[in-house]
Amino acid sequence: MSDHKQTSTVSSWATPSENVLKKAQEIVSSNNVQQVSSSDYLVKSTSSGTIYGVEIGVQGIFKCECQSAEHRGYCSHIEAVKLTINNEQQ
Ligand SMILES: [Zn+2]
Repeated sequence: MSDHKQTSTVSSWATPSENVLKKAQEIVSSNNVQQVSSSDYLVKSTSSGTIYGVEIGVQGIFKCECQSAEHRGYCSHIEAVKLTINNEQQ
């Protein structure tokens, strides 16, 4: 009896979805990323207006206070900070 289920493609856990990236771009284009120190940023959510602290750790690991970062390891706030840093480096 063969019982092989085709496992649906699970996107790797640390890859932000398109939706998250889109939100991040909105945050950046609304100027909602504020740098507080060399490793700390404040990011205001465009949807709720809540401000989250994003911190860059020693090994370049981004941390955010919001729940989705805690559960998924990424969020639109972290991506917004990454976008901001990339923009500055150009
Ligand atoms: Zn977040």
